[in-house]
Amino acid sequence: MPEEAVRFAVLQLSGCAGCEVSLLNAEEWIERYRLMYMPLVVSAYDVPPVDILLVSGGVRTDEDLYNLRRAIPRAKQVVAVGTCAISGGVASLGDRDEVRQLFLTQPERRHVPRMLPKCHPIDAFVEVGRYLPGCPPTPELFMAALLDPADFKASKIVCQECGRRKVRDLRPEHLVGLRQGEVLPDICLINQGYFCVGSSTRGGCRAPCPRGGHPCVGCRGPSDVLIDKGSTEWLASIQRVFQSLTDVPAAEIEQAARSPQMALFLFQFSDYAGVDRPPRPKEKVL
Ligand code: SF4
Ligand code: SF4
Repeated sequence: MPEEAVRFAVLQLSGCAGCEVSLLNAEEWIERYRLMYMPLVVSAYDVPPVDILLVSGGVRTDEDLYNLRRAIPRAKQVVAVGTCAISGGVASLGDRDEVRQLFLTQPERRHVPRMLPKCHPIDAFVEVGRYLPGCPPTPELFMAALLDPADFKASKIVCQECGRRKVRDLRPEHLVGLRQGEVLPDICLINQGYFCVGSSTRGGCRAPCPRGGHPCVGCRGPSDVLIDKGSTEWLASIQRVFQSLTDVPAAEIEQAARSPQMALFLFQFSDYAGVDRPPRPKEKVL
């Protein structure tokens, strides 16, 4: 490896380590970039000076906040990686009353860092140079963030990468819930009664979920046209798509969108945009 190789580190805050595993599944960086710090695989006491700092996980505990503030001055560029660092994800589950209640009744909680009243995205505290949403971002997206290839451009929405066809003559009257057996291979999952939100979700992942027959849950976050708007507009956009392709009642769509399963991904961003700070600049989001 050349001495002048780009030096980068991965700071893990509260999350599931899925982002790190996805990064390790991307190989192209190994010959060209030098990984200096990543507790999952590299033994190092602290984040050293680096060119790029990837931060995964949300700011869930006071320890997260301490580690984030300590690491930032050592990096030339900061990239927020994954849904938790950007807009919710598993790190934000502790915001739910029932989860917090469960946690507070456990005596063992005294042995873990203090939870903040609310989970925060990292840009609530530090300047971020680039956002890489996904749960986790695919290896290809990691490579695009690290190597910045000129030919990489995320599609506007997941539907553009999915390849399934939306049809007008297959109109379900109700949602069918989670995947039920075989799905028709080429037809849009919405036409088959699944709650797929690919039409309002940022592309770039190559649509692995809907192509495999599983609805997109929106882990890449809102598309460019929705990124600076609130959750009301996002939900309205989803409703319009379902109205045009199905006869499912609007209340059923709303209930599905706000279910605990979808709450991991949808509508978290509205907590983070426009209330305490301006919306994220689109050009910073990969
Ligand atoms: S709504 Fe889902 S299944 Fe339908 S085209 Fe878009 S991503 Fe594919
Ligand atoms: S298809 Fe949807 S849920 Fe699946 S990786 Fe892409 S954005 Fe995430």
